[in-house]
Amino acid sequence: AIYGTRKNSGGINLHIQSEAQPFHDAMAPFQTHQWQAAPIVAGKEMAGELQKVRSPQNNEDLVGTVAFAGNDAVKAALDSAHAAFPAWRRSNVEDRAKALEKFADLMEEHRAELIALVTREAGRILQDGIDEVREAVDFCRYYAQQARKMFNGAEVLPGPTGELNELYVQGKGVFVCISPWNFPLAIFVGQVAAALATGNTVLAKPAEQTCLVAYRAIQLALEAGIPGDVLHFLPGTGATVGSALTGDDRIAGVVFTGSTATAKAINKALADHEGAIKTLIAETGGQNAMIVDSTALPEQVVNDVIGSAFTSAGQRCSALRVLYVQDDVADRILELLKGAMQELVVADPWQYKTDIGPVIDAKAKGLLDEHLEALKAFAKPIATAPVSDEVAAKGSFVAPTAVEIAGIHQLSKENFGPILHVVRFKASELDAVIDAINDTGYGLTLGVHSRNEGLALEIADKANVGNCYINRNQIGAMVGTQPFGGQGLSGTGPKAGGPHYLFRFVTEKTRTNNI
Ligand code: GLU
Repeated sequence: AIYGTRKNSGGINLHIQSEAQPFHDAMAPFQTHQWQAAPIVAGKEMAGELQKVRSPQNNEDLVGTVAFAGNDAVKAALDSAHAAFPAWRRSNVEDRAKALEKFADLMEEHRAELIALVTREAGRILQDGIDEVREAVDFCRYYAQQARKMFNGAEVLPGPTGELNELYVQGKGVFVCISPWNFPLAIFVGQVAAALATGNTVLAKPAEQTCLVAYRAIQLALEAGIPGDVLHFLPGTGATVGSALTGDDRIAGVVFTGSTATAKAINKALADHEGAIKTLIAETGGQNAMIVDSTALPEQVVNDVIGSAFTSAGQRCSALRVLYVQDDVADRILELLKGAMQELVVADPWQYKTDIGPVIDAKAKGLLDEHLEALKAFAKPIATAPVSDEVAAKGSFVAPTAVEIAGIHQLSKENFGPILHVVRFKASELDAVIDAINDTGYGLTLGVHSRNEGLALEIADKANVGNCYINRNQIGAMVGTQPFGGQGLSGTGPKAGGPHYLFRFVTEKTRTNNI
């Protein structure tokens, strides 16, 4: 009973007028608002080099300014977090859990502002913003509950008479949390909440593209009662702030979500420390596939393909990149896919009707355009969703595109955007398809569409992936329901939003007492 019951938060249903109208009204003031963010160290804002933040969907929309942390802020934060750790480690789990629950309540209270920021700063559509606040809130409440269980006194273990054997956990030290721009609120908050719940002090470095929403989240966490010397906010680039943090021997570990290359670079930096062996929790990219056999329901397949490949402009680690369709149903499915893609609305994410917003910035668009150019040499076009010239001229939009290729092996890297590659296969080639998917070395999500349950379960078992979804889309993992994270090139585990996640943030102690 002390753990209480926990429910995932409700979100907002935009199809119900009584929910949509108040949401619309609450959002209005934030459509033109400009935010200011700065490093927060030991509860105080610090100065830094000012950067302008512009909307990816409209380069003329100035969202605000952020001061990037300089060496002085990084050093002060490290000193303070290091000094604060011993007391925070011994703090009462109930106090930590309550503060995280209060933080969750405050995010719900301020959700219109947070959704507005997610939309204007990161170019995510309103539904993505709604889902992100929900996920951030759920992470806080879930980890608060998990921490209560983990820190509920020592577990007594069997032993000889007269000897008391106990096992318990403690926080590890200073954790560096480095988060991505594609979930600028949910993943940022999830990492920080997990580290705090387990009695670690935190240096939070958001992605440089999305510092404003992260800054507001930190302000709310501090307001909720997380002490200023326990949680520090350090906006800046990976090359300066990130490297300075991961290179400092006083840290205990790093929680990172982002590219595989950066995760490996961090791992290397941690290995070079003179002192203790550091913890790395990394969630990285994927080359995610979906396998569709001839028993699948075509309309459902197309709906789930569109959702998996193009939601959030394909900028999810979980997103579908390579669709394997059995040849005898391929023509029918591709015909439906073409039709569905013509219906997609690519536009300003602030509008309710928009399905697909922009990609994060001009650099991301450049990389995707390069990939589309390279595909011309070996891929056959299937469909491209329409984007009006007016929309395209304003910001970094990439039209959702589907092409046919020969196999997943033709893709040398993950392409983080709305580009779907389709491959036809024969029933007799299924094992080879699974081998090819496994051979990429990535292992994040896999979709399977089949009415043959035995076969679907066998595919799920053979594929080296972290999250396998059968007869549905393969994105949008829910906290406590679909613990999320991959293997191989896709990450170290443990899974975010799952019952084992917090264990990587703590050290175990066995106490044998023969008094
Ligand atoms: N958890 C997200 C999902 O299931 C993906 C997270 C990510 O992109 O890093 O869609």
